[in-house]
Amino acid sequence: MADVDVLIVGAGITGIYQLYRAREAGFSAVLLEAGAGVGGTWFWNRYPGARFDSESYTYGYLFSRELFDEWEWSEHFAGQPEIERYLNHVVDRFDLRRAMEFGTRVTAAVWSGDHWAVSADDGRGWDARFLVAATGVLSVPYFPDVPGRDAFAGEQYHTGLWPSEPVDFRDQRVAVVGTGSSGVQIVPVIAEEAASLTVYQRSANWCTPLNNAPIRPDEQRALRAEFDALCHVLNTSAAGFLHQPHDRGAFDDSDEERLAFFEKMWHSPGFAKLSSNYLDLLFNDAANDAWCAFLEGKIRSIVRDPVTADKLIPTHRYGQKRPPFVNGYYEAFNRDNVTLVDLRASPIVFDDLDIVVWATGFDFGTGALARMGVVGRDGVALNDHWADGPQTFLGVCTAGFPNLFFPGGPHAAAGNNPRYNGDQVDFVTDTLIHTGDRVIEVTAEAEQRWTDMVDRAAQTNPFGELGQYFGTNIPGKPRRYLLNAGGRPKLFKEIARVKDTDYAAFTLL
Ligand code: NAP
Repeated sequence: MADVDVLIVGAGITGIYQLYRAREAGFSAVLLEAGAGVGGTWFWNRYPGARFDSESYTYGYLFSRELFDEWEWSEHFAGQPEIERYLNHVVDRFDLRRAMEFGTRVTAAVWSGDHWAVSADDGRGWDARFLVAATGVLSVPYFPDVPGRDAFAGEQYHTGLWPSEPVDFRDQRVAVVGTGSSGVQIVPVIAEEAASLTVYQRSANWCTPLNNAPIRPDEQRALRAEFDALCHVLNTSAAGFLHQPHDRGAFDDSDEERLAFFEKMWHSPGFAKLSSNYLDLLFNDAANDAWCAFLEGKIRSIVRDPVTADKLIPTHRYGQKRPPFVNGYYEAFNRDNVTLVDLRASPIVFDDLDIVVWATGFDFGTGALARMGVVGRDGVALNDHWADGPQTFLGVCTAGFPNLFFPGGPHAAAGNNPRYNGDQVDFVTDTLIHTGDRVIEVTAEAEQRWTDMVDRAAQTNPFGELGQYFGTNIPGKPRRYLLNAGGRPKLFKEIARVKDTDYAAFTLL
């Protein structure tokens, strides 16, 4: 006899919504969270400068019109403190906190014939009919094995494990290691405070301005008035983004028109630079080169020291890595207290530092699930089933692991995460209702079909082919695509097929 119908792991955006949906559907539910508060990724990544790079109102929840109407985001791209306040507001508004246990890290989850036996690091245990791991893709920070790191006597922080107490950088000699989306957000903020800041860069990244702004009262009113239209746009765009695709290729325009269009892109908000840029930007070398040449000109026009500017010009194509969106990043290198060091030429000199900030990324996609001690049917460990990389159906379940779901996990999303993850929570909840008192497990064939789709589509999609999306940022991790290469339309199509075929992709016992 299980203690609870649904045990959810993780109080991030996905877990909060899963708890809401499970309770609304009449299930008893408990949510376990390792952190001291709600927010998941947006709890742990509380480093100075952390903020959305998708518009706040496109990233927040859309399931409740009342919630949307009563919450006013102050900026188009909200900062971490406001995001954390919002998620706490949602939890309290829907009375979800009393089902949550904080400071509780799941260390084992074993399938026991008709339920999951779940244990936590504090020795407690739960028997749950369904286990929903809303453990996220960016939950396990990666510390590189750098000579001298262990012996360093100063303070060390990872952007993805930032402490609740503010870190005081005043009069300190600080280093930031890593120049991905997190590193380039924190650099300009630390630069303002520290005595000196050394930025250790292994590879440069193509950064463009976020172009954030406060949301004016008339914009607030328009957002409310156009809620349905907003939902329509987000639910029909391929990646859940607000910004619509352009209708032209780069060379449909003259040189002057192209330059003017790139200038417009440079001044556009957030991800518009990617999703509303020329249609062939990622697929046509010449189009990509033209955009990169434009960005190179911008970087050189901002950064005064030509040697530093040289180092800041990436060698990869735009989109090969997830591009960051920044606020004053390149400008920071014009300050006297900021130095850029090429890690490929010079190692980190720990002796000259008081504080080191590791902005070195995450064991993306599979990291958290791999550390949860999941053992499925016939005693098979999830880590063995996924030894060559994840195999999933819809990015939410895997064969041999009955009554286990992981919305927002590997193969789940590729774009505006909360939109995809919300779709998946809705699907999981419908599936729990459909299952009732039975046990449900995806078939090996359905799992193979989705995994093959992901792997095949990844071959023709050059977006993010370097780094975390293929797991290549973690030494020894198998090179497999970890996003949903088919995008949101493919997810919708397959979910509809599951329902139309009365769950033929699953066995129910
Ligand atoms: P990341 O994109 O993986 O970047 C890690 C950085 O650390 C890279 O510059 C990498 O260099 C460097 N690095 C890794 N291993 C290293 C080593 N052994 N020695 C030296 N440098 C090393 O990680 P992230 O910046 O934390 O971003 C992760 C993801 O979080 C993003 O892609 C995005 O999805 C998300 N994010 C989102 C936001 C937002 O929405 N606003 C903000 C921050 C992060 P190489 O490039 O050479 O590998």
